[in-house]
Order: sequence, then C-alpha cells, then structure tokens
Amino acid sequence: MASESCIVVGAGISGLLAARELRDAGWRVTVLDKGRGVGGRMATRRIGGAGFDHGAQFFTVRGDRFENLVNGWLEEGAAAEWSRGFADARGVANPDGHPRYRGSEGMTSIPKHLAASLDVRTGERVTRVDRTDDGWAVACESGGSASGGALLLTAPVPQSLALAESGNHALPRGVRQQLAGVSYDPCLALMALLDGPSPVPEPGGVQIKGEPLDWIGDNATKGISDRPALTIHAGPQWSRAHYDDEEADVTRALLDLAGEQLGADLVSSALETSLARWRYSWVTSSHEESCLVASEEPPLVFCGDGFGQPKVEGAALSGLAAADRLLGREAY
Ligand SMILES: Cc1cc2nc3c(=O)[nH]c(=O)nc-3n(C[C@H](O)[C@H](O)[C@H](O)COP(=O)(O)OP(=O)(O)OC[C@H]3O[C@@H](n4cnc5c(N)ncnc54)[C@H](O)[C@@H]3O)c2cc1C
Repeated sequence: MASESCIVVGAGISGLLAARELRDAGWRVTVLDKGRGVGGRMATRRIGGAGFDHGAQFFTVRGDRFENLVNGWLEEGAAAEWSRGFADARGVANPDGHPRYRGSEGMTSIPKHLAASLDVRTGERVTRVDRTDDGWAVACESGGSASGGALLLTAPVPQSLALAESGNHALPRGVRQQLAGVSYDPCLALMALLDGPSPVPEPGGVQIKGEPLDWIGDNATKGISDRPALTIHAGPQWSRAHYDDEEADVTRALLDLAGEQLGADLVSSALETSLARWRYSWVTSSHEESCLVASEEPPLVFCGDGFGQPKVEGAALSGLAAADRLLGREAY
C-alpha cells in the first residue's frame, strides 16, 4: 500500500498517532473530528472553573512500544503519573505498585499535544464516504470535504461501519461481518462540582468495577482541578437500563448512589452538574487483529480500541499498526 496521502476520520488517540506516523513518513494527512476538540474518549471538560475527566480516567502500560510513547509524553510534560492503585469498593487503599498515568492537565492534554503539529479539523462530522478514481473523498455535515489516497476510520466500529457504507462503496460481506462483531458497553458519566472537599479517599479514585457504579473520581485530588469536582461512572448494566432517562433523574440517582458509597450527602453539596452519555465506552467484544484492512487499493483501514487490545494502550497500538500497514512496514 502506498498512497502518500490519507484522510483520518477521528482525532482520538488512535487517529492522532496514526496521523503522526504517516506525516513523519512524508504523507499529506488530514484529520477530521466531529468533536469541538480532539481526544475522543480521552475527554476533559471545564465546568464552573473546575476540570473534569469524564471519559477515560487513567491509563496503564503493558508493552514496550506504548511505554516508549508514554516516556516521551512524560518528558514533554503532556502526561504525569497519578497513582499506583486506588481504593476498592470498600474504600480501602489498594496499592499494587503499577503506575496509573493521566494527562498533565486532564486526559485531553495528551491528544492536544499529539495534534499540535498536524492538520486537524475539529467540528467536522463526516457524513459520507465515496470511492474516487484515485482514492477516497469524504463529505462533512458542515459542507466541507476532503480527499486522499487512503482512508483511515478510527471511530467506534459501529460508527465507522456505517460511514464506510454511506456512499458508493460496499464492504465485502466477510469484512462487514467481522466489523459487526465488535461491540461496546455504554457509560453514563456524571460530573459534579461540589461546595467543599469530597470524601473520595487518596489518591482520588474509588475503583468499584461493578454495578450500579463503576468508578468515583475526585479530579481535585487527581491534580487536574482547582475545585472539588467528582466524576461518577455508572456500571454498564445500569448505564444501559437508564441510558435514555431524563438528565435530572440520572443525576439525582447517581449522586444518591455515590453518596451511599462514600457515606456523604452529595445531593446537597453538588453546586453544578453535567451528564455525559457515552454510547460506546469499553469494548466488550473486539476484533482479534490490531487493525483491519478492508480494501488494499485504494487503501481503507479500520482501527481503534475495537481492534487487538482494548483501552487507551490498545487504541494507541491499533493506530500505530494501521500506519504500519499503510506504510507497508513490518508490524512492530
Ligand atoms: C467512560 C469511559 C471510561 C473509560 N475509562 C478508561 C480508563 O480508565 N482507562 C483506559 O485505558 N481506557 C478507558 N476508556 C477507554 C478509552 O477511552 C478508549 O479505549 C480510547 O480512548 C479509544 O480511543 P480511540 O482513538 O480508539 O477512539 P475515540 O477516542 O472514540 O476516538 C474516535 C474519534 O472519532 C470521532 N468521530 C466519530 N464519528 C465521527 C464522524 N462521523 N466524523 C468525524 N469524527 C468522528 C469522535 O469524535 C472521536 O474523537 C474509557 C472510556 C470511556 C468512555
């Protein structure tokens, strides 16, 4: 595969890392993302002067390739070590010696750092993909468009799959079947600005990994907020059951549940709240390869956390693998 130019749909960690590899190899790369900013599920928001990570809370490192990247981010000031373990569901500290990392000013610090030297266009929702004589053309809701020899789709797979077949291109049936097998859990994520310090124990996270709550984090103790700011993640079953409920009802329920967990009245101490509904959060069934080449000529590649390993590390490795394939490099 040699195309020299590529459209990357999605400025999450996978798309940005792929884009940088291609750009470094001399390709012309255009990254399009529907979000207001970059980062996708590595998401940080400001509410009432407080900072909230409301998607991914931290990441870990398993393999050498990702470790090299993370060491670079640490040196360049984009990432920081947060802790070596969190409190468990009983609130008991549970250090295990393995570093958990965060972005220096929130999780988006890393994608922002990666995007700085790339042609990234945010606020551009791609709505149609067409095959052309010399590659691919995409059209955006805004009326904008882009073209390139290769196309890399990095959104959660159900979204990428719909996009790939939105125009004149039909995926081979086998490819469509493989992609249709990738699935995700939803996650309801509540952000709550509090009127005083939170009862979340040091180092600022209770990792419940269950139902009805999965996680309660304090972004101030985490070091990314000047004001007490909780992130509460519902578990997958609870999120699925309440995904379309009214925001006020979900907010009240999650404050009650987290308050019970922490032994505090969070309903009274919440000054401001905001609810994020992640339709695709954690991967529940992934594709076994680290990316999927749906067309060799012109190249069409799918990548992201639905391929190979899950989580931030898996998404990063998938983006790198997609770039390897497009550049005709041996897998790392
Ligand atoms: C609530 C939650 C908690 C999590 N916690 C953790 C954690 O603690 N640790 C961990 O390692 N991982 C965690 N994860 C998972 C982690 O965030 C993801 O695995 C990783 O960020 C995925 O990166 P990605 O590049 O594959 O996809 P994404 O980050 O989803 O990037 C895809 C991008 O595509 C864009 N896009 C989609 N459709 C279009 C379109 N039509 N046009 C233009 N752009 C489009 C999106 O806006 C998005 O920016 C969590 C995720 C969630 C949601």
